[in-house]
Amino acid sequence: MTALSARRGAPSADVPRGRAGSPARARPGAVLAVIAAGAVATLFLWWHGTPSLHGFGDWLTNAGRITGLEAGYGVIILVALMARIPPLERGVGADRLARWHAMGGRYTIGLVVAHALLITWGYAVTAHTSVTRQAWVLADSYPDVLLATAAGLLLVMIAVVSARAVRPRMRYETWYYLHFYTYLAVALAFSHQFADGAEFMTDTAARVAWSAMYIGVGAAIAWYRFVTPVRQAARHRLRVTAVSEEAPGVVSILVGGRHLEELGAESGQFFRWRFLTRDLWWTSSPYSLSEPPRPGRLRITVKEAGGHSGALRELRPGTRVVTEGPFGALTGAARRRRKVLLIAGGVGITPLRALLESLPAAPGDLTLIYRVSSLRDAVFRRELEQIAERRRATVWFVAGSRAELPGNPLAAGELAKRVPGLTDHDVYLCGPPGLTADVTRELLGAGVRRRQIHYESFEF
Ligand SMILES: Cc1cc2nc3c(=O)[nH]c(=O)nc-3n(C[C@H](O)[C@H](O)[C@H](O)COP(=O)(O)OP(=O)(O)OC[C@H]3O[C@@H](n4cnc5c(N)ncnc54)[C@H](O)[C@@H]3O)c2cc1C
Repeated sequence: MTALSARRGAPSADVPRGRAGSPARARPGAVLAVIAAGAVATLFLWWHGTPSLHGFGDWLTNAGRITGLEAGYGVIILVALMARIPPLERGVGADRLARWHAMGGRYTIGLVVAHALLITWGYAVTAHTSVTRQAWVLADSYPDVLLATAAGLLLVMIAVVSARAVRPRMRYETWYYLHFYTYLAVALAFSHQFADGAEFMTDTAARVAWSAMYIGVGAAIAWYRFVTPVRQAARHRLRVTAVSEEAPGVVSILVGGRHLEELGAESGQFFRWRFLTRDLWWTSSPYSLSEPPRPGRLRITVKEAGGHSGALRELRPGTRVVTEGPFGALTGAARRRRKVLLIAGGVGITPLRALLESLPAAPGDLTLIYRVSSLRDAVFRRELEQIAERRRATVWFVAGSRAELPGNPLAAGELAKRVPGLTDHDVYLCGPPGLTADVTRELLGAGVRRRQIHYESFEF
């Protein structure tokens, strides 16, 4: 392990600050509580409109109605989680939202399939006919059931391409753009809910509330995913100002623009970047700010991982840039303790480099551990040393492959030895998923509480 401990010096006085006032941040627990309350209210719609049940067919049909209602609720929540609503992005964090979306997606698809099967079976039992005959009758003579069937099939297709066994075989962009069919599925299924849903046929208040929920989410999608990037592009006029090599396969890109302080970006956050060149304009990728936002300038640092990231080294100054963001909850707002330990793996250093520079801290309060396969691959080595010196922080470079190092340098015992008072630290963690999981386990083993550990995953 290579240790670079900074000399004593003045703490950073020229730390760039964000806008005055703290932007709204939703608390994850509160968001989950609201989602759960909505699911209960949806169940109440069924309860309210169902006086009594008679016979097996009725039980099946009503189980189908409940699963249908909850599926209609679930799918709009899934879309809302991905609407890039700023208080959600800042408070919950994009990676956690993506995990909730993926998990909720599995439940919602289960509800959609259960709804179709139970309703068909229930109607068949009541009508004393076969399930296949009943399926035909439903599709042929019930309003909008065919549209809803198409919607259900689209959702199943999206679930299949998102399955763990299938997703890694697809290009990220293919998977991403297939997800847009969710919007089509929601639109196709909507009219069926009012045309066939007993809860909505006679209850105007229920129709109004349900429509308001769908319209609200639709408006959020339109605003935050489509209008906001265009407004930001017009307002901030971002352009690449410089591209420089940081380490083998790693480049920094400086982007200049106007009124950037209005973005309210913070160290630790990321944007989705769309570079308007002939080959790159159609795709946007998430990259974290690798230094605190400065007046008129943002910086990202990118490691070549594939087509998009690899092409960025060819960017020319003057290239127009469109961004969405800022996103992410790995900011100073997550902090609870005075002392902070930052642990970076590989290119996960980018948001932590920005935090090292800007987190308010007294001398000795900040420690950075930077895990790299070799010192040659360490990005920002000089910058980190300079910041550490200026801020009286401690920076440890942990270099070497697993085979080269004797034991695990980030094991609980090692961490406790290297970072006095480890359990009194907030820990910010960013790196490959394997490293993040291993280090989290070691930290918990060393007595650090889960709520003191904040991490960003570079994979959605
Ligand atoms: C919140 C966040 C912050 C990130 N910050 C940085 C950073 O500061 N520096 C850096 O070098 N890398 C960062 N990444 C990773 C970076 O986005 C991917 O390495 C990059 O998008 C790879 O794209 P590609 O087309 O070059 O490679 P591909 O070969 O197309 O993709 C490689 C892998 O990257 C992931 N990926 C690709 N595109 C996206 C996308 N649009 N959104 C999410 N994941 C994607 C997929 O898991 C894919 O399997 C960050 C990722 C996330 C999610």
